[in-house]
Amino acid sequence: MTSVPPSDPSLRSLKADWTARDLAVLWHPCTQMRDHADLDGARVPLTPIARGEGAWLIDHDGKRYLDAVSSWWTNLFGHANPRIAAAIKDQLDKLEHVIFAGFSHEPGILLAEELLRVAPNPGSVSQGEKDRHLARVFYGDNGSSAIEIALKMSFHYWRNLGRDGKTRFIALSGGYHGETLGALTVTDVPLYRATYAPLLGEPIFVASPDCHEREAGEDWQTHSLRKLADMRAALEHHAHEVSAVIVEPLVQCAGGMRMYHPAYLTGLRRLCDEFDVHLIADEIAVGFGRTGTLFACEQANITPDFLCLSKGITGGFLPFSAVLTTARVYDAFYAEYTAGKAFLHSHSYTGNALACRAALETLAIFRDEPVIERNGVLAQRLRERLAPLADHPHVAEVRQTGMIAAVELVRDKTTRTPFPAAERRGLRAYRHALPLGVLLRPLGDVIYFMPPYVIAPDEIDFMVEVAVKSIDAATTP
Ligand SMILES: *Cc1c(COP(=O)(O)O)cnc(C)c1O
Repeated sequence: MTSVPPSDPSLRSLKADWTARDLAVLWHPCTQMRDHADLDGARVPLTPIARGEGAWLIDHDGKRYLDAVSSWWTNLFGHANPRIAAAIKDQLDKLEHVIFAGFSHEPGILLAEELLRVAPNPGSVSQGEKDRHLARVFYGDNGSSAIEIALKMSFHYWRNLGRDGKTRFIALSGGYHGETLGALTVTDVPLYRATYAPLLGEPIFVASPDCHEREAGEDWQTHSLRKLADMRAALEHHAHEVSAVIVEPLVQCAGGMRMYHPAYLTGLRRLCDEFDVHLIADEIAVGFGRTGTLFACEQANITPDFLCLSKGITGGFLPFSAVLTTARVYDAFYAEYTAGKAFLHSHSYTGNALACRAALETLAIFRDEPVIERNGVLAQRLRERLAPLADHPHVAEVRQTGMIAAVELVRDKTTRTPFPAAERRGLRAYRHALPLGVLLRPLGDVIYFMPPYVIAPDEIDFMVEVAVKSIDAATTP
């Protein structure tokens, strides 16, 4: 700090000062930096944040913003949550990090035990099925790396069994699994994928069960189940060369909060068994209570071969991820060293002790407090407040799964014709909501709500009121 000249508060606000200094040196993710140019007339304002408090972010001028997107879906129990902060502080004085090969530590071990205790495993199964339980935990340090780990582990499993031909992956249209090259390979959101496609592998994309696409009058379950036929056809054709099917259970988040019925997952699990391919459940965004159950897979009563977790796992405090897999998968790697079957995926910060401790405390909150029940009440409030928007002339659909709700804006309601993308209507809503004190961050023209679980009922009302005003402002010519 001392090397930086002090700002002169008499000239401009602290906030403007930090903004200028940021724009002089930083390059932000998911951002056309040109949008931030011209401090006053910027197309997208840059907002430095001084501190957080519960569901709120507070800038250097003291202005408060309700974090309706949980800071990219990571925050569960509020910013600066005292319980998680205290756990990390305690850990800081004991052990910050240690090499996780050949060494281990208490928070890492306790966390793996706890993750396996709460994992979506069937309550009672026959002995022969026991090796299909999630029974092993491998750590990574962000969501994309969890996907890389699951893809590599699945491929390597078949290879260790002598089935070298299983080298491809099936993914759903509209799915998002991260932006490192392997994760981007199975991502089907053009914004992130198109430019880099020449660098990527070639997955098999199968039509999503996305219920926004259902026929008029068709219910979610019928539509989602109908889409299983596409998956069956793909597996009939390709199963011999396919290692795994990867999906975001129940909600395809970054692809526009597109939702589907749990019956699809139940059917998909059966198909994966029938055709001998793995099922990778990417619960990076939907895990930890977002969809109304601790894990979305529970609603379909299935256990995946790989469960990828990140985002909310540390309550939004530290970058971290975990891949849970079965004893069957683990056993295929367990051999004499000279057999060369060991799994290789190493990040320097694997199993970081501070992150493990934050995750442990996050899971302790789920154990100590009726989080899922409370969320049910909050989700109902959100549903009621959003309901009138269904009649808005520029809203094609209001949809919700647990603590995720989305409003799809269109130019023409009856034909569902979208606004031209260049009009950036969602961005207009973002810009309108910010000075009113709500951080919405639409995905294109989809305005969505994914608030921290500590949001109060009257804060939900405020969030929706501002969103309605912003939608009105964004959809008037
Ligand atoms: C965010 C996300 C990822 C990637 O996680 P990062 O930590 O951003 O790399 C992967 N899958 C899903 C479903 C996500 O929402």
